[in-house]
Amino acid sequence: MTSAAAVLPASVRDRLEHLIGGEWVGSSGAERISVVSPSTELPVAHVLQGTAADADRAVRAAHDAWPLWAARPVGERIALVRALAAELQRRGDELGVVIATEVGMPRHIAVAAQVRLPATVIERMADVAADHPWEERIGAATVVREPAGVVAAITPWNMPLHQIAAKVAPALIAGCTIVLKPSEVAPLNAFVFAECTQAAGLPAGAFNLVCGNGPGVGEALVTHPLISVVSLTGSVRSGARVAALAAAGVKRVCLELGGKSPNLVLDDADLDAVIPSAIEQAFFNSGQACNALSRLLVPRHVLDEVEERLVAGTRALRVGDPFDDSVHLGPLVSARQRDSVRGHIRAAIDDGARLLTGGPEAPPGLTRGYYQVPTVFSDVVPAMRLGREEVFGPVLAVQPYADEDDAVAIANSTPYGLSGGVWSADVERARRVARRIRSGQVKINGARTRDYLDTPFGGYGLSGLGRELGSSGIDEFVEIKAILG
Ligand code: NAD
Repeated sequence: MTSAAAVLPASVRDRLEHLIGGEWVGSSGAERISVVSPSTELPVAHVLQGTAADADRAVRAAHDAWPLWAARPVGERIALVRALAAELQRRGDELGVVIATEVGMPRHIAVAAQVRLPATVIERMADVAADHPWEERIGAATVVREPAGVVAAITPWNMPLHQIAAKVAPALIAGCTIVLKPSEVAPLNAFVFAECTQAAGLPAGAFNLVCGNGPGVGEALVTHPLISVVSLTGSVRSGARVAALAAAGVKRVCLELGGKSPNLVLDDADLDAVIPSAIEQAFFNSGQACNALSRLLVPRHVLDEVEERLVAGTRALRVGDPFDDSVHLGPLVSARQRDSVRGHIRAAIDDGARLLTGGPEAPPGLTRGYYQVPTVFSDVVPAMRLGREEVFGPVLAVQPYADEDDAVAIANSTPYGLSGGVWSADVERARRVARRIRSGQVKINGARTRDYLDTPFGGYGLSGLGRELGSSGIDEFVEIKAILG
């Protein structure tokens, strides 16, 4: 086994600094945060536990940089953002190691999913921006889109670089400047990202990085009077808190929160195609994906066959060291996350769900690291906790249904609405059913979000407010002005 600490690139070891106004600077406080490898359970690096004073300094630097950045022609801003994507691509292998170390996703998957994907997100944002209606005529009026101001970007740990890219690229293109507070659980990749902004030639202060936790740095950013837009990806709890704080200053808030998304198999679907995709979309990143399709809705007459195939496919997943290129799933990100996932599994057992495979434990032989065996339950009804609550771990809930109306009712039975899937041999039928599902994205016959990066991404209900990606993602960072006459 490779020791995670040993392979961590020097560029991210103990970076006790923030990037503020183009300078790497220390904190006004003395506290640090340990970054722990989920595969070894050992600290691999430290970052600063920033303070409200650090946040204030970064917001002021971003605010100072804003007028000049906003005045640059949009074509220049797009070109710089493209250069940022190129820098990320250039450092792809290094970033793959960093993310495998701090998140635990297998490195061979992380390079594609956690590095190439964010670089592509940035490139697609740049493509979309070139055709964005920055200025349009509506009757006798001219409607212009102007930069909204300084953005606080607050991001989680599960797909850390993607979530940074999905905020920073459109905000910069729109003419905003940014203070990023990355997840305190997996902050190291953000240092490489910050270096890429410098190497790409972004002016000092356009992008600033402040490390720290939510209650400290996060809340100081959200409540800062010079912040105009708060864009947070994270849990419902954090999103609700941030929205409440931002309300006092009537700030724009974009929230990308959790999900409990249904994967609806219609009675004419091809199970040979459904099963591998259903397993992949439920267990990708050990289930730590906001858009995981964590509920599989199955017609009752094929339930036995689906269960049998799911169990075989799930047991075939290899769980292990993120630096072993033959594994499919690494550990969960932290002891806290592992304990939370096991709590959900125990609750499902208590609520009467039928355990098909897995359980509240590590796979055999994995005694060190926050590993969790992939788990499948069946007969999960909406009243059970597993039918409604986001697990954010490798736990799939099978929900049998009687007919199409019943299936749609079960699909819409949670307070969330982020993603979903529909399977049918008849694509038009699948699209009709997709229209009945209350969520921000529905994938027909195994479509993947990564292949549709210029379409909006976001949630209904508890899944959030606003949309990322595509031209909707740019509009989160503009003010719209109508000049009449
Ligand atoms: P989290 O809510 O604990 O943290 C997310 C970020 O918010 C972190 O940077 C954290 O420091 C910050 N934060 C926490 N409390 C805050 C506060 N009071 N004020 C300001 N900032 C605060 O979430 P997490 O555990 O890092 O990520 C997992 C959650 O994120 C899951 O619920 C998942 O569904 C969600 N998520 C959503 C999407 C999406 O696009 N919809 C994508 C990935 C993850």
